Amino acid sequence: MIKVSCAEILCIGTELLIGDIVNTNAAFISKRLALLGINQYYQACVGDNPARMMAAVKGALSRCDMLITSGGLGPTYDDLTKETVSQALDRELVLHEHTLERIRGYFRRRGSEMTENNLKQAMVPRGAIVFDNDWGTAPGIAVEDEESGKVVIMLPGPPRELEPMFDTYVMPFLRKYATEILVSRNVNITGLGESTVEARLRPLMESALNPTVAPYCKEGEVRLRVTAKTTDYEEGVRMCDQMIERIRATDIGPYIYGIDTDLEHAVVDTLREHGLTLGTAESCTGGQIASRITDVAGCSDVFIGGIVAYANDVKVNVLGVSPETLKNYGAVSEETAREMALGAIERLGCSVGLATTGIAGPGGGTPAKPVGLVYVACAYNGGVTVDRLMLSGTREHIRRLTSNRALKMALEAVRS
Ligand code: ATP
Repeated sequence: MIKVSCAEILCIGTELLIGDIVNTNAAFISKRLALLGINQYYQACVGDNPARMMAAVKGALSRCDMLITSGGLGPTYDDLTKETVSQALDRELVLHEHTLERIRGYFRRRGSEMTENNLKQAMVPRGAIVFDNDWGTAPGIAVEDEESGKVVIMLPGPPRELEPMFDTYVMPFLRKYATEILVSRNVNITGLGESTVEARLRPLMESALNPTVAPYCKEGEVRLRVTAKTTDYEEGVRMCDQMIERIRATDIGPYIYGIDTDLEHAVVDTLREHGLTLGTAESCTGGQIASRITDVAGCSDVFIGGIVAYANDVKVNVLGVSPETLKNYGAVSEETAREMALGAIERLGCSVGLATTGIAGPGGGTPAKPVGLVYVACAYNGGVTVDRLMLSGTREHIRRLTSNRALKMALEAVRS
């Protein structure tokens, strides 16, 4: 059997190069390769130009043992992937009867005529393994070329065909090339920037070879991906868990809000465990907290509802914020945030009330209350915590960081 030490992905299509479409196929295939523990050191895109495509195929085959292409398997003259690969491997194209029948059936079922150029889609390099396309016409093709020691897999471009084909047929095919598996767990952190997390964990990250620890930034949150390379899944999970315990023991520990989850799921799960309910009173986040919570399927036993209290009148009339508070301290103040959170509890009848009020910008700031000044309040069990934030960035970013903080405050209030 051919020994595969690394794979490359080559995505074919001029649309990719001019930014008309986003290369989701590369991301999709990469994730699968990582799951299988098949290394990938390079990936590329090339347009529908025959000479450049040949150069890209040959270049990739000079570096890797497994080349996976996407696109260019269509019926038209500019779909050249098979022709190029067959030439590079010096294998002629032959008619694959089963595929021809399948394509004929595909058109028959749709009540349309198969055109002559669809014949081209039933041609495969001699000796190839064919993956049926149950979602379209062009089949997937694998060539295990013992002579050159290379495996080439060609897949159709449309993600709605490539993705199910990959999971149904290509993954089982690839398993024999996977010598090790990768097991990953994500440690989710909020309240610290990526550079701070990295600086604090650098000695641990540098010394950790298996599992590895790598930070990723995600909309105001940091995710540490802990990845173990192993031959046994359970062993991989154990290795990751041990590393997660080491991370928890550092001063990053208090900022970890969950493993393999996101903030909204962590809040819903934690409140449910404690038999608590949540309500929101949002000004500058305009319902974003409620929206994120309701993204969690089945949250209705936890989430009561939310009030978007943008105008002062709504803060007073719907949430019961005192007009004096607004007059004396303004809408963007610790006092108003506090009364909004208490108002959520009182008016919505929930156990945890979250409130936000702030200036998300880009306009509306003053020297005393600049853009980015936000108060977030969490009322629970007779007490209210209010955090004052000075945020920077776009309006969208400020609102996201605000809703992150609110969700984290709910978690902290309930867990403490
Ligand atoms: P078809 O039989 O539909 O012609 P094909 O294998 O020739 O399939 P392409 O013509 O290269 O595939 O691409 C078809 C469509 O698939 C593109 O217009 C695009 O919408 C989508 N597509 C192609 N490559 C990618 C990619 N790498 N990532 C995401 N989408 C892609």
